[in-house]
Amino acid sequence: MPDHTNMTCTSTPRHFLEHIMEHDLSRADAPFSQIVTRFPPEPNGYLHIGHASSIFLNFGLAEKYKGRCHLRFDDTNPETEGQVYVDAIIEDIRWLGLQWDGKVRYASDYFDQLYEWALHLIREGKAYVDYQDPETLRLTRGDFKRPGTDSPTRNTSVEENLAGFEKMRAGHYEEGEACLRARIDMQSPNMNLRDPVLYRICKTPHHQTGNTWCIFPSYDFAHGQEDAIEGITHSICTMEFQDHRPLYDWFLDHLPVPSRPVQYEFARTNISHTVTSKRKLKRLVDEGVVTGWDDPRMPTLSGMRRRGYTPEAIAQFTSMVSVSRTEGMADVSMLESAIRDHLNQTAARTMVVLNPLKLVLTNIPEEMEQQLTAPVHPQRPEMGERKLSLTREIYIDRADFSEDTSLSRKRFKRLVAGEYVRLRNACIIRADKVIKDADGEFEEIHCTALSGTAGGSPPEGVRPRGVIHWVSARLGRWAQLRLYDRLFLQKTPDTGEGDLITRVNPDSLLITKAWIESGLAEAAPEQCFQFEREGYFVADRHDHSPEHPVFNLTIPLKDTRASSET
Ligand code: ATP
Ligand code: MG
Repeated sequence: MPDHTNMTCTSTPRHFLEHIMEHDLSRADAPFSQIVTRFPPEPNGYLHIGHASSIFLNFGLAEKYKGRCHLRFDDTNPETEGQVYVDAIIEDIRWLGLQWDGKVRYASDYFDQLYEWALHLIREGKAYVDYQDPETLRLTRGDFKRPGTDSPTRNTSVEENLAGFEKMRAGHYEEGEACLRARIDMQSPNMNLRDPVLYRICKTPHHQTGNTWCIFPSYDFAHGQEDAIEGITHSICTMEFQDHRPLYDWFLDHLPVPSRPVQYEFARTNISHTVTSKRKLKRLVDEGVVTGWDDPRMPTLSGMRRRGYTPEAIAQFTSMVSVSRTEGMADVSMLESAIRDHLNQTAARTMVVLNPLKLVLTNIPEEMEQQLTAPVHPQRPEMGERKLSLTREIYIDRADFSEDTSLSRKRFKRLVAGEYVRLRNACIIRADKVIKDADGEFEEIHCTALSGTAGGSPPEGVRPRGVIHWVSARLGRWAQLRLYDRLFLQKTPDTGEGDLITRVNPDSLLITKAWIESGLAEAAPEQCFQFEREGYFVADRHDHSPEHPVFNLTIPLKDTRASSET
């Protein structure tokens, strides 16, 4: 379970929404006794890291002020929505360790009530059926410079509109032939108030309501009323809804709603080197740039999960991003350092060789297995010990050996011909002889193991250059490694020349293999490890098995990128 200690009640408000809530709770005339928030995803894509901010904000505020947070799907557009997205979103929120209050809610739970309220507005002369085609409708709303022009049916009778709306509902019209509009103000400087559409016709079956409805409420007509039905006190959304707030309030003013929610806006979380728009992420999926919504390179929660990110690291990242009304951009390296820090504290250590070079310890007999132990985590003895077997033949990384004896000890803390190095968690060895193949490549290095040096200090006069990792050749095996890098190398991939797809990093995935300790193949899917001296890796959630071990690179040990990278 994630650590939510950053959300526990403190007396000092951390941002403007906490100020507002504390003020509201302390008011003698507060119209509510408990804070109620909601997270309202539209099920037309998977959740991404931007959504995580909104999730932790809404759930966190409810927790801090001992209120409730609802999960409510904003499912008013069957054309783009679907059950797969509903299921994925529920799974992601559970994975984050959060629990909403009561059942999963849907905008579609309220379609009957919303329909009644539409009739109410018609009866009050505040809504009318418009038969103009969508293009004419768009043009007659005017723009920022020109006021809108009235629809020919703007002033028709209540009876005509009731009849027209009933026909819409009964399926009499095709999509685009009629819509219901609020009768507000065609001259308003706020475009949202120029007789906005309340209901439109859509004949696509709906994932929750099937064919029951062929008319669907607009987001604006649905959202505030749903908040009112559920007793939401603080309806928190992102800045682009600021201009919709007068409309949100207009509906609450003109309908017999059971409670009075208030909308508050905050700035979206933007992250460098990332796109956080479901529409753009969907393109990456649909155009086969990635393998799916949960491709480990995707900034979706399911992608990050598969990459090896933990809920704790995501919570930590969102707590570092300020909640404000001013747009900013968080550097993706903040997210990367959050996962690096968390895995540094929690991941079991293991040795894996990425580019194997064979070493023969000539003074160890063929059949011998020297049993060694090492801590699972060097700073956390409670995590226990792991067993290692040193054998005559082992693999080390090619980059850990050099024939160049002129390399300074400071620059090259690895094995050099004729010199000493310590095998991590084991003995000191000396490189005696280099065997090369016909192309002059190192084939194997013959070494001597210095007896008694495992766990002990070097004998007189022996100065190992450093410590290198290794895996037994006889007792190890191959695993597939998927080495992931950022999907975009540009700071703002959605801006600039050309198409988003052309900016995808062609080297964002390198599939390779590595030599692992056999026991590592038994890792459970999603188990995280530090491959010592290499990076943090996770057993792939779907493709890893003891027969075919597959590990994904979560993040290298160190951030080697220049911070100025664009
Ligand atoms: P997208 O632009 O990716 O399609 P959206 O806002 O349309 O996102 P919704 O499913 O409607 O996606 O979002 C659910 C909630 O998450 C909304 O309250 C929305 O404001 C919030 N949200 C979406 N993206 C971000 C973000 N980058 N930062 C903070 N909150 C976000
Ligand atoms: Mg939306």
